Amino acid sequence: MIPARYGASRFPGKLMQDLGGKPVIVRTYEAAKQTNLFDEVYVITDSDIIFTEIENNGGKAIMSKKKHESGSDRIAEAVENMDVDIVVNVQGDEPFTSKKGLKQVLDVFNGDDADVIDLASLMTEIDDWKEISDPNCVKVLVDKDNFALYFSRSPIPYPRDKNADVQYYKHKGIYAFRKEALMDFYKLPMRPLESVEKIECLRYLEYGKKIKMAVSNTQGVEIDTPEDLVEANKMLQEKDKTSINNKFRNFPMVPKVVFGAGSFNQLSEILSAKRQKNSPFIFLVDDVFKNDASLIDRIKLRFNDKLIFISAEEEPKTSQVDKLVKEITSEFTKKPSGIIGIGGGTTMDIAKAVSIMLTNPGSAADYQGWDLVNKKAIYHVGIPTISGTGAEVSRTTVLSGPVRKLGINSDFTPFDQVVLDPELTKGVPKNQWFYTGMDCFIHCVESLNGTFLNAFSQSYGEKAYDLCKEIFLDNTISDEESRAKLMMASWHGGMSIAYSQVGVAHAMSYGLSYVLGTKHGIGNCIVFNQLEEYYPTDVALFKEMVTKHTIEIPQNVCSNLTEDQLNKMIDIALSLEPLWENALGKDWKEIMTRQKLQSLYLKM
Ligand code: NAD
Ligand code: ZN
Repeated sequence: MIPARYGASRFPGKLMQDLGGKPVIVRTYEAAKQTNLFDEVYVITDSDIIFTEIENNGGKAIMSKKKHESGSDRIAEAVENMDVDIVVNVQGDEPFTSKKGLKQVLDVFNGDDADVIDLASLMTEIDDWKEISDPNCVKVLVDKDNFALYFSRSPIPYPRDKNADVQYYKHKGIYAFRKEALMDFYKLPMRPLESVEKIECLRYLEYGKKIKMAVSNTQGVEIDTPEDLVEANKMLQEKDKTSINNKFRNFPMVPKVVFGAGSFNQLSEILSAKRQKNSPFIFLVDDVFKNDASLIDRIKLRFNDKLIFISAEEEPKTSQVDKLVKEITSEFTKKPSGIIGIGGGTTMDIAKAVSIMLTNPGSAADYQGWDLVNKKAIYHVGIPTISGTGAEVSRTTVLSGPVRKLGINSDFTPFDQVVLDPELTKGVPKNQWFYTGMDCFIHCVESLNGTFLNAFSQSYGEKAYDLCKEIFLDNTISDEESRAKLMMASWHGGMSIAYSQVGVAHAMSYGLSYVLGTKHGIGNCIVFNQLEEYYPTDVALFKEMVTKHTIEIPQNVCSNLTEDQLNKMIDIALSLEPLWENALGKDWKEIMTRQKLQSLYLKM
């Protein structure tokens, strides 16, 4: 329930102010719905304007009949005749309401003491004396089980000794009520403590109700003043960037790397320093090496180490990762000493994901997205046997899940150790060498031509781009040199997009891959071949490379698509907003329409 009064005293009409193209109250409503935590979400208002606005946006609103003292009264009136169990109030002026906080306040009713809880609310740790002593900031005291003892505008507890070691908490106005508690509140008269402090929830304490508090340190943004609104608008503009492409991201790099032909032989020595008693190393190896003794014999399994062959037939899936994790945890009681991925982007991505899922609960699909992983992964090592994806150095592991194809992008994803041995790439078939190599070339083109480019990305991108030109167009370079250089190009290309983004080719290639199962490298080539309009010089260079190496790029791959398939492809491509924004700038939606995208796909 979102109580929404039109005439707020400090900032009249604030709920109808524009926030990134929509009124504040609509933003709040949508944020609450998007949490998927509630059976129903309603705005309860005294205003026709707000009521109509919510209904026009496809939402549900209720007009409150009476004049009310508080938001709780307004909600109580609305739920009086509804069949509800637990009611949550969401502040109308908190458009960035986080799912985390709401979930915490609801989870309280799943605890052992749920029976005695009448309502739940949130509190945040505060440490700044200015805030502690500010009467606008309501403090709360709790007992050892986090039941509220008292709420006050005074600094409570009062620190006689200023160095006292005590945690202060600020009350946040989010509640989850049992319906009976809320109805009691509505019917019982105000008592002196509530009246003097002007704090609603004191009424519950004054009538002996139990309020369980949960700690939530996520910061919301409350819109109380016109200045807050300006801030919120800025935040909204920056939101995509802070979550997806923070210009000042503090990102991890691979801390250890060995390079050189034959360096693979050093693996046992590297691992022995990381071996823990009775806990195995798990080697995930591309099954193309199944009968290749020259590689398998050099792995030297010790004690209870285990080797699992991984098929790169299809791109990695979250279900495949979950299955591997189950296989490992059911065979070994102790967590492995480490996971070693030996293969291409497919195998390395699986190794990264398995190492994360051995320490984090649930399914890999729960972590697809940016920064959703909480616990450090198991020690993991990446050993590429084909070059170009940059997966050996990147902060992501690209997985197809039940609903999307998206990476687990987190600080815990990058490898702890990488072994770059160019000799391992000797057996790669020519077409595959080209497709995966072009992934690197295209990473550079998209990063270097993108609007997110900065000197950091550029320095890596330019180096990788030059290496690619040498590898794919220079006639004088030896095979050995070419393998070593492609390995480094892949590394630099990966580093270049770490601080930037890919662009048009990747967005469209994800669409192809989702609908037709086209693999990443070849998919990029199919798309890039038709992108003269966006990357003219580089598409010309690409075509030169294709001709020089007599590579076949599949044609007419979209000619037999059904309308549904084509629409799905377009949906998937368009959903990758950061990629488009990088490629075409802020106003990309005006440039890349559905029709335009359709005409491009039909050319492929
Ligand atoms: P891949 O791992 O799918 O392997 C391609 C083929 O080459 C497979 O058949 C494999 O068996 C074979 N192969 C690998 N090494 C070989 C060798 N030495 N000799 C003979 N055959 C060999 O190919 P890829 O292009 O490296 O990886 C594509 C995957 O990487 C995609 O799933 C893509 O999503 C992912 N990717 C990840 C990132 C990232 O940052 N994590 C970046 C780009 C792409
Ligand atoms: Zn790529």
